[in-house]
Amino acid sequence: MEYSGEEFDVIVVGAGVMGSSTAYQTAKRGHKTLLLEQFDFLHHRGSSHGESRTIRATYPEDYYTPLVLESYKLWQQAESEIGYNVYFKANQLDMAPANDKVLLAVVESCRKNSVAFSVMNRDQLHQEFSGLVMIPEDWVGVVTEHGGVIKPTKAVSMFQTLALQNGAVLRDNMENGAVLRDNMEVMGVERDGVRGGVWVSTAKGERFWGKKCVVTVGAWTTKLVKTVGGIELPIQPLETTVCYWRIKEGHEGAFAIGGDFPTFASYGNPYIYGTPSLEYPGLIKVAVNGGYPCDPDKRPWGPGNPLAPLKEWIEGTFSGVVDSGGPVATQLCMYSMTPDEDFVIDFLGGEFGKDVVVGGGFSGHGFKMSPVVGRILADLALTGEAEGVELKQFRIARFQENPKGNAKDFL
Ligand SMILES: Cc1cc2nc3c(=O)[nH]c(=O)nc-3n(C[C@H](O)[C@H](O)[C@H](O)COP(=O)(O)OP(=O)(O)OC[C@H]3O[C@@H](n4cnc5c(N)ncnc54)[C@H](O)[C@@H]3O)c2cc1C
Repeated sequence: MEYSGEEFDVIVVGAGVMGSSTAYQTAKRGHKTLLLEQFDFLHHRGSSHGESRTIRATYPEDYYTPLVLESYKLWQQAESEIGYNVYFKANQLDMAPANDKVLLAVVESCRKNSVAFSVMNRDQLHQEFSGLVMIPEDWVGVVTEHGGVIKPTKAVSMFQTLALQNGAVLRDNMENGAVLRDNMEVMGVERDGVRGGVWVSTAKGERFWGKKCVVTVGAWTTKLVKTVGGIELPIQPLETTVCYWRIKEGHEGAFAIGGDFPTFASYGNPYIYGTPSLEYPGLIKVAVNGGYPCDPDKRPWGPGNPLAPLKEWIEGTFSGVVDSGGPVATQLCMYSMTPDEDFVIDFLGGEFGKDVVVGGGFSGHGFKMSPVVGRILADLALTGEAEGVELKQFRIARFQENPKGNAKDFL
């Protein structure tokens, strides 16, 4: 194999939002960083593309809320560095039967993390959201200020640009910074037995040496981690469908971001989520959380989740002012599900010790926390520990103790 002659402090494999945010963090701290992506940058074949992701602090697991709260600050910081917005504020509404265990756990977690919230019955909610939202009689809504929409493709591009910008400044002085390479599929990561660190090799025959390596390959995590470390991680890719629905004429403004209308989640069967109208004026995103198991290299590209439950939910919830006849636009994407839906953030271990760090299994809810995940992955790679964060819920070893991962008493 050809040796490219390039050496780095950190090599990040996979340029979705997690890898790009990690590269931004390591470059910003003055470390020479290489970010490698198998496809074109900003491609649509993974999990980080598209027009909107919800950010919310309402989690039944109380360990996510502090990560979300830190992420709000980091989103703002990155926005101020780049000079444009990727985050658009809204309130967050979580709806469920009044005795739903997950919603009760959300309320408890808000209390514990000092997140202000209001619990509203059907009539109060109807009034709060200008008559647009109607829930069943025995349901309640939990409303917090910590909602909103992140623009995903724009955010990934922001982190990549910031990684480069930090690199450009530093390269002049310290020969540090970031190098971003796309269409570079990583085939292997091997330990350098002579001087330590790792060799990262690509399908094109190039090899790069890094003191540390961070693997953030989304739906490909199980495959690459098996090749590299011989470990079988239980991360299952799912293909999921985002649906956009037409708001009936004259009501478009009421659903637009920046007004009353919230980002929302409805904890029924199926779990349904959505965002105010932003990316396509006159359309609103309402989708089912879930999808079909898939091989990321042999995607079915459809047919998508059944539409009947969505149509029924839209008709019942939005007082007939959103056309529930069918979505007018759809987009496909992949989740990387762990059995407990908790992230994997850990050292690969084995012969690599602390030289290879893995960030994966973001289970359809990681985007909002990508700034803090990048911060943590960079901490782990550069210092061997994550400042101020308890990572036990995210350890790989949890699956050895219990194949289903972390136990959750609200399920
Ligand atoms: C439809 C949809 C809606 C979602 N909604 C929300 C939401 O509302 N809120 C929220 O917080 N989260 C949400 N998520 C989840 C969030 O988008 C993901 O958790 C996040 O994007 C995962 O990013 P990633 O970097 O881990 O994976 P990816 O974005 O898939 O990035 C991994 C990258 O690694 C590359 N790669 C793989 N193998 C190799 C290799 N061998 N060599 C080089 N490169 C490689 C891939 O090509 C890819 O670019 C949603 C996800 C989807 C699909």
